[in-house]
Amino acid sequence: MGRRTPARFRPDAEDRIALTHYTCPHGAARIRREGVIRPMPQFHLEGQPWIWLADYQCRRPGSENAKRILGFWPEEPDDCDKTAAGVRVSIRYGDLTFWPELKDRFPEQWERSCAVRGAKPWFWWMTHKPIELEPQ
Ligand SMILES: [Zn+2]
Repeated sequence: MGRRTPARFRPDAEDRIALTHYTCPHGAARIRREGVIRPMPQFHLEGQPWIWLADYQCRRPGSENAKRILGFWPEEPDDCDKTAAGVRVSIRYGDLTFWPELKDRFPEQWERSCAVRGAKPWFWWMTHKPIELEPQ
């Protein structure tokens, strides 16, 4: 059976979708400790609090390929690698926003997300809601 992706089928708002939140190893450790992913103010998106998610599981998190696909561009040379760790989550479809749907609201950032060679911004999803991890 092929992998079904949110972009290609039409779920109901209550359907749960599996996505991956990429972060640095420190962020991943904190998330696992607290059991929740919290939205963070996004400097480039008018300071709005979002959680970024990807409909993509990198075979090698932290690789150059992962950085390209996830459009990771460090602001500072010593910034943590936010593609190094993937936290798999299950999220209500109705709580998701598809990043390409915000292209008119944030045209500059949309352009920027497409400009990274090899980036796949149509794999990117966001939510304003904290995501509780399911008990292991
Ligand atoms: Zn870190």
